[in-house]
Amino acid sequence: MRELILVRYGEIFLKGLNRPYFMRALVDKVKNAVQPLGGKVMLRDGRILVTDAEDMQAALEAVTKVFGVHSACIATEVEKEDFNVIAQTAIKLMKGMQGSFRVESRRSDKKYPMQSPDINRELGYRILNAYPELHVDLHHPDHTLNVEIREQAYLYCRVVQGVGGMPVGTNGKATLLLSGGIDSPVAGWMIAKRGVQISAVHFHSYPYTSDRAKEKVLDLARILSASCCGIRVYVVPFTEIQMAIHEKCPQDYTTLIMRRYMMRIAEKCAEREKAGALITGESIGQVASQTMEALGATNSVVHMPVFRPLIGFDKSDITEIAVKIGTYDTSILPYEDCCTVFTPRHPATHPRMATILKGEELLDSDALIQRALDGIEIVEV
Ligand code: ATP
Ligand code: MG
Repeated sequence: MRELILVRYGEIFLKGLNRPYFMRALVDKVKNAVQPLGGKVMLRDGRILVTDAEDMQAALEAVTKVFGVHSACIATEVEKEDFNVIAQTAIKLMKGMQGSFRVESRRSDKKYPMQSPDINRELGYRILNAYPELHVDLHHPDHTLNVEIREQAYLYCRVVQGVGGMPVGTNGKATLLLSGGIDSPVAGWMIAKRGVQISAVHFHSYPYTSDRAKEKVLDLARILSASCCGIRVYVVPFTEIQMAIHEKCPQDYTTLIMRRYMMRIAEKCAEREKAGALITGESIGQVASQTMEALGATNSVVHMPVFRPLIGFDKSDITEIAVKIGTYDTSILPYEDCCTVFTPRHPATHPRMATILKGEELLDSDALIQRALDGIEIVEV
């Protein structure tokens, strides 16, 4: 008899011939998650098992955060030959429970001498004998005792929902424009959840923005990194570009032109990473630089697809996810961002392309971009 974690995966089931590839990736990620706890991972019966973790509860928590895991539970594994052993284990698992229960058993071993309804009935009977205060409710039970008869028998009561999604790395790479705000970490998390390996680009305007502001962004990347399996962060010095825009371009267009330079530089970083797309935390109409026209103007400077997973989300919806994924408390720390330092009083909400281009013509774009690229600091988190 021993305790282990049964891991269920969701969508990778759908992948037909690619399934072994997705399975290997998922096993790999589960391994990374439980290794610090001494956990061992194996694939058996089409099921991922985690054994030997020094703290099973902590391992369960770690496993349910891995993208691609649909649900997981701590199960007791026993020999299936002697039904009395299964029954004793069932009684032990139900100890201390109150209210109603049902037994739900499944056999993948069709040669097992008892059929599922017989197992349900017999175990239900013995549990009731042991705990007369319990009662059976087949439709809305307070507790469900699951019994799986496979190579061995597995018994468990509590199933924990996983984050879902797909294993990181199975769906290519993308580069996230990561600010210190609430939105962009959530945007990165959502795309990573779809199996995409993320790298990040952060623009900072030292000394107008402080080292603390930069550290905060790296902290956000560290929080994401736990589920994203490591993130390479490109920290780009942006002061010179911002100063040049501020000096030479029409005041109400400075934010928009700055956003266009961010996109251009982020695309260069993405190319270095062999990433196929950019990610931003933009949402229609949230601020002046995210009106329909402004989004069109920032989009038009890059060739790669730009993923904006939050495009139709309200701030309150985004905040809710930020809390759930653990980035919110860091995001609201009050350090300045390069966008807020040079914010114009009346940013253009219906920008004209001709004005944007005329403004940009006054800048030595190639040299400015090159110097920013040359000054990049790379941080692995
Ligand atoms: P967030 O909460 O993500 O900061 P925001 O509401 O403040 O978003 P903006 O400042 O207009 O919106 O930025 C829009 C998007 O541009 C951000 O979601 C992010 O993807 C990118 N961005 C903004 N500032 C930076 C920065 N300093 N470094 C990298 N990306 C940035
Ligand atoms: Mg911002």
